Amino acid sequence: MNTRKNELADAVAQVKEDLAEAAKKAGRTPDDVSLVAVSKLHPASDIRDLVESGHMDFGENYVQEVQKKQETLADLDVNWHFIGGLQSNKAKFVAGKFALIHSVDSLKLAQALHKKAVSLDVVQDILLQVNIAEETQKSGIAVDSLQELADEVMKMDNIRLVGLMTMPPFFNEPELARPVFSRLRELRDGLETHVGRPLPHLSMGMTGDFIPAVEEGATLVRIGTRIFGARPPRG
Ligand SMILES: *Cc1c(COP(=O)(O)O)cnc(C)c1O
Repeated sequence: MNTRKNELADAVAQVKEDLAEAAKKAGRTPDDVSLVAVSKLHPASDIRDLVESGHMDFGENYVQEVQKKQETLADLDVNWHFIGGLQSNKAKFVAGKFALIHSVDSLKLAQALHKKAVSLDVVQDILLQVNIAEETQKSGIAVDSLQELADEVMKMDNIRLVGLMTMPPFFNEPELARPVFSRLRELRDGLETHVGRPLPHLSMGMTGDFIPAVEEGATLVRIGTRIFGARPPRG
């Protein structure tokens, strides 16, 4: 028996139960919330174990690391999500290789992704990452600049905007993140009206705060530690 495999499958099953419960409590359907297992800094073998147990969505942050994993796991039908900070000079390695890029936060990055998507003749789904708490050290576009960036992205034929993502500041108490999540939902609702197209996705909620995120409308939650345990240091 592969105990790691069982451990991981159990952890995913438990998180899914919690997600379903939070969804029901908020009058939503469990199917409306997808779990993205954040596998950054964990080995490719963990991903393989979970795929064999039926989980397909994985989130990764670092270009070089995920490129290696995609090579190692090329035989599997993984839905890869890029969720980390991305420099526009690395966009060419990411466009076309991910089901969804959650972390687009500048025009320069959107343009670089678009250029690559055009050359590959693919349409790349993206989210715009919003820095709601306006923390200077965090990535994400300022709320004031969101509409303008969305307008520019909407002109790019090979980029499809499907929603918004945010990462709240670290709080000891998950309830304190709730206003950030409800604000992202309001921003999405306003932007939807502005661009005149549905923006179905809200990527919000991590290990420490996914319950209020689901209650506030998350459709994608990004959970690492709760599934894989503590991350080894990056190096
Ligand atoms: C690492 C990371 C996560 C997962 O965080 P956990 O607290 O381990 O669940 C989620 N989202 C982003 C953007 C991350 O970088």
